[in-house]
Amino acid sequence: MTTRQPATIAVRTGIESDSQYHAVVPPIYLSTNFGFPAFGEVPTYDYTRSGNPNRSLLEQTLADLEGGQAAIVTNCGTSAINLWISTFLSPQEWIVAPHDCYGGTYRLLNSRAKKGDFKVLFIDQSDPTAVSEALALKPKLLLIETPSNPLVRVVDIQQLCQQAKTANTLVAVDNTFLTPIYQQPISLGADFVIHSTTKYLNGHSDVIGGVIISRAAEHGEQLAWWGNCLGSTGTPFDSYMTLRGLRTLSARMRVHEESAQQVLAYLHTQPLVGKIYHPSLVSHPGHEIAKQQQSGFGAMLSFEFAGTFEQLKHFVGALRLFSLAESLGGVESLICHPASMTHRAMGDVALAEAGVGQQLLRLSVGLEAACDLIADLEQAFHQAQEKN
Ligand SMILES: *Cc1c(COP(=O)(O)O)cnc(C)c1O
Repeated sequence: MTTRQPATIAVRTGIESDSQYHAVVPPIYLSTNFGFPAFGEVPTYDYTRSGNPNRSLLEQTLADLEGGQAAIVTNCGTSAINLWISTFLSPQEWIVAPHDCYGGTYRLLNSRAKKGDFKVLFIDQSDPTAVSEALALKPKLLLIETPSNPLVRVVDIQQLCQQAKTANTLVAVDNTFLTPIYQQPISLGADFVIHSTTKYLNGHSDVIGGVIISRAAEHGEQLAWWGNCLGSTGTPFDSYMTLRGLRTLSARMRVHEESAQQVLAYLHTQPLVGKIYHPSLVSHPGHEIAKQQQSGFGAMLSFEFAGTFEQLKHFVGALRLFSLAESLGGVESLICHPASMTHRAMGDVALAEAGVGQQLLRLSVGLEAACDLIADLEQAFHQAQEKN
C-alpha cells in the first residue's frame, strides 16, 4: 500500500468503501449528528464539528499523499495556519515566518502578535545570517513557504529543517503552490504541511478549504482536539467536493506545468516583459534547490511589466482568457496584480521589503489549450503597445 504512487492514492482512497449499497463513490453524509447505538456507547462519529465520514476520507487521502500520520481538514487555508499557531504557540513564544509570505498569512501573524498572543519575526529565509539570528531566539515555530507568493522564491527545506531541529523548533511548510505531486516537505524533514485546498488540491475554484498534515500522530491528536475546540473544521459538502477535485490532481498538475512552460517560452520573446520569476529558469536564484527538492516547477509565475503603468492596465484589461482575480490553482487561468489585490493588506513598507512592486503581475496558468492562452497574451500585448 505505502508504495503506491500519488496519482493512485488520490484516485482510489475510499473507492468501494460503502458497505450499505456498495456505491463505488463514497456517499456524502451531510448529517450534523449521529445516533448513539445504546446508552453510554459512543459512536465513531457523534457530531460533525468533531468528526464526519467525508472529512475523514479527505484527511486520510491528504495524509497519505503528504506522507504524514494525520491530517485535519479546516474551513480555509488561513484557519489551518491559525489552528497550527493556536495549538502550539503561547504568549512570549516566537514564530518565524517568511517576509514574503502569503498576504493573509502575514496579516494573521502580524495582527495576532500585536494583540500579544505570541511574538512574530518576518525574515528573508534565503539569507543564512537572518536565519541563524532568528533561530538564536529559540522560536517555537518556523513557517516556510516555498515557492513563495508572488515571487516564487525558493528556500532549502531540508537545510532549514535541520537547523530548526537544533533549536527545538517545529517546522511547517505551506505547500499550496506545488502540492504533494511536486513537493513532499515531510520527506525533507518538516513536521507539518499546510495547504490552502482552495487552490490546486480542489482545483476548480469552487470550495474554500484548508488542511494541516502532521508527521507525528501525537501532533495530529493535539491539532484535532483544538480543531474541534476552536471550531476550525471543514464541512462534509466541502470535503466531498475537495476529494472530487483531488481525484484528478496528478493529471491536472502535469498539464498546468506543461502549459506554464509554453507560456514562459512565449513571455521571453516579449518586449513588454521585464524580469520573469519562475523556479524553472536557470537564472532564478532558487533554481538549483528547486531542482533538488521539487519534482516539478509548478505553474505559478510572475513577471515585471516593462511598459508604463497605463500600458499595464490596458494589457490586463485586454486579456480574455486570464481572468483578473485573486486565488490560483484552478482550471481557469488567472492574472493578478499583487500590490493592489492579494498583497494589499501588507502596506507599502512591507511590500517594498518583500520586493513586490507596482509593475509586478502574477499568472496562474490554467488548463485551457496553451496555444489559446499564448494567442490571448499576444493580442493583449499588442493592444498595450498601441497605447504607447
Ligand atoms: C490562498 C493561500 C492561503 C490562504 O488560504 P485560504 O484558503 O484563502 O484561507 C495560504 N497560503 C497560500 C500560499 C495561499 O495561496
